Amino acid sequence: MSKENTMNKTIFAVVLVALGLTLSATSTPADAAVRFCFKHNVDFIDSGQELATSCSSFNPARCEDDWKTNDAYAARGIRVKVEKQINSVYTQIWYNYTDDGDGGDGAGCTPALDPAGANTGWYKITLESRAKVKGNYIYSRNSSDELATNTFVTYISTDGVTGTYSFTGSSSSLILERFNVLSAASQAQWKVNLGLGLQWYYFRVLSTSGQSSYNGTSGVVSISWDPLAPDQSAHRKFVISHELGHAVLHDILGSGYAGNTAWNDDGQGLGNDPLCANGSHGVTSKEYLSGAGNEGFAHFYASAAFNNAGSNFNCYVHHWGRGTVNCASTGNDTAGYVEAFMNLECGAGTVVGRGVELDWWRAFWDVRTQGTPNLVSYSEMTSWLSGAGAWNNTNVYSILDAEANSVGGSLDAAWNAAEVDNGIAH
Ligand SMILES: [Zn+2]
Repeated sequence: MSKENTMNKTIFAVVLVALGLTLSATSTPADAAVRFCFKHNVDFIDSGQELATSCSSFNPARCEDDWKTNDAYAARGIRVKVEKQINSVYTQIWYNYTDDGDGGDGAGCTPALDPAGANTGWYKITLESRAKVKGNYIYSRNSSDELATNTFVTYISTDGVTGTYSFTGSSSSLILERFNVLSAASQAQWKVNLGLGLQWYYFRVLSTSGQSSYNGTSGVVSISWDPLAPDQSAHRKFVISHELGHAVLHDILGSGYAGNTAWNDDGQGLGNDPLCANGSHGVTSKEYLSGAGNEGFAHFYASAAFNNAGSNFNCYVHHWGRGTVNCASTGNDTAGYVEAFMNLECGAGTVVGRGVELDWWRAFWDVRTQGTPNLVSYSEMTSWLSGAGAWNNTNVYSILDAEANSVGGSLDAAWNAAEVDNGIAH
């Protein structure tokens, strides 16, 4: 798509809800109280279910269980400043995080505001590319953290503030991309409540191409962006949520998080499939368990953000390099990513302490969706992961297995099935 076409899609639909308000008893009518609700028109190019017939009603036919790829969604918990023009001066009347959906005002909405002054001027609305969702803070900014370029400003007349208003966002300075990243990250935080609360997630939207990444030392997620490159990460919700998944796992494991070094084990026997080898790491490459488990968890997190993780639900993700991947281990997907991929395709050489991202991805999904008799909750997964102890290159299977045995119940049942189905018991 053209750059212009992409840019024009950043629209904030501002829904202003005029509350029934008794006018004050003075001769000059005061403003009616208002509540502002904000929606962000997301603009993504990836879709896990783009080939599914259930999505054919959309044009383009791209959708997930919860999100169509391009639509307006409540800007959950977004930070907003509201100023009102009173006697020719803009006066701040509210500056805070909107409701993330739990607060009673409605997702993306301010509380009722009842400012002084007559309806004779404008509201100045400043939306910041940051949010508070489920008690966690999300920043989406540029590399130098300039507040002025991480905001979107619009004006609304105070006359007749009812109905729905749409605005076209700025087409400069990658502001569209920063709000795109914020939207995907906020959705993931809302949907997959694995975080511990009071965490801070920093995204840096860079005006460069290349791979996006999570830096375990600084805690910063870098999202690359290049309008001409296939890796338009700021327009790929599965990339954004994948990188956030690394940050969330780091929060869960703390100092037991294994960083991104020595992940690859390409010298240990490649097996039958050339995809078992990868220069860095890949969804089907044979890696140390620290790599396969860490990447598998990040894939799982992205899957859960945009697929319904009910009992035995389907799971489709558009992997940035591999196309649509079926991440539910209920059968082989059309791309030929067989279950227990490492055992079947990469079995030569050392297998103890080794794994494949795809197998671990599906195993985490199975733990979440195939517990018996009860579905395993995210909080139960968090307790299990944190209780297992520190990861090293080769111990991930053994410590998670021991902890599952200790926990017992539905989680252990799901884990026991997942480790067999996906061949991860190494
Ligand atoms: Zn990753």
